[in-house]
Amino acid sequence: MSVLDSFIAGLPKAELHVHHVGSASPRIVAELAARHPDSPVPTDPEALADFFTFRDFAHFIEVYLSVVDLIRDAEDVRLLTYEVARDMARQNIRYAELTVTPFSSTRRGIPDAAFVEAIEDARKAAETELGVALRWCFDIPGEAGLEAAEETARIACELKPEGLVSFGLGGPEIGVPRPQFKPYFDRAIAAGLHSVPHAGETTGPQTIWDALVDLRAERIGHGTSAPQDPDLLAHLAEHRIPLEVCPTSNLATRAVTDLEQHPIKEMVAAGVLVTVNSDDPPMFGTDLNREYGVAARLLELDAAGVAGLAKNAVEASFMDTAGKAALRAEIDAYTAAWRG
Ligand SMILES: [Zn+2]
Repeated sequence: MSVLDSFIAGLPKAELHVHHVGSASPRIVAELAARHPDSPVPTDPEALADFFTFRDFAHFIEVYLSVVDLIRDAEDVRLLTYEVARDMARQNIRYAELTVTPFSSTRRGIPDAAFVEAIEDARKAAETELGVALRWCFDIPGEAGLEAAEETARIACELKPEGLVSFGLGGPEIGVPRPQFKPYFDRAIAAGLHSVPHAGETTGPQTIWDALVDLRAERIGHGTSAPQDPDLLAHLAEHRIPLEVCPTSNLATRAVTDLEQHPIKEMVAAGVLVTVNSDDPPMFGTDLNREYGVAARLLELDAAGVAGLAKNAVEASFMDTAGKAALRAEIDAYTAAWRG
């Protein structure tokens, strides 16, 4: 491990773009599979490691769907959520806005109230026992269409759990225009939630404009194609609309052809508030520490620069002012002690 990697490993961090099911590590999947012995997912560590070795995007979807299939009752939801927080604690992630897709569980027969109770139980336990503050972004799985949008908006607005801070939109972008989801985002925003759709990951800058105009996005998930439109970059910089950049995910899904071509440098050079995130970390063979390492290399950052990235995530988060100040102070204290 390089000196910078060990600095990153100990650095207190916030993560803003990471998916609930997509965070299930082999260890967690083994625990879930043990609860459901009829599942085809292997439980022995070696076979599981092989199962998790990223091959291509189709394989990622296969792994993702087999993990979805292991989440069958509220106890599975609670276990997954709490164990994801444990993996975060190991990386010194102090705060995370976890993208949760309630529709995937409710359509499989888990009652909405039981689902919400399970994630909230896990959230409270993670905060007191692991020191990780979890918040939720409830997202619409775009491929499931307006039925999923309606269900997600209903759960968000009617059940509105304490940890819920934002409303999102994921899944494929091609063939799933953002503007059709406007009424659902309007309802979520009226209920006090922040708007955080994925946009411009696999499509051009127009999708990001649609997210800003129609869905009133306050942060953009990915925004990889933003540098193709200088006016858009200038708009994002001027209005302090952060981008949630996930470098390894972008490579895995072929949103970028190789990491050296990743547009993160242009985003930063244009003055956009850039945050670094892991998306679906174990499924892409990464974690947040590794993503910080990648960003540090691409942006040629030293320890102070990496601490700056961590502070960007604090600024771009939906933490309250006191929470932001506390995490910033923790980052500063860690950086000062490390220098000493
Ligand atoms: Zn994502």
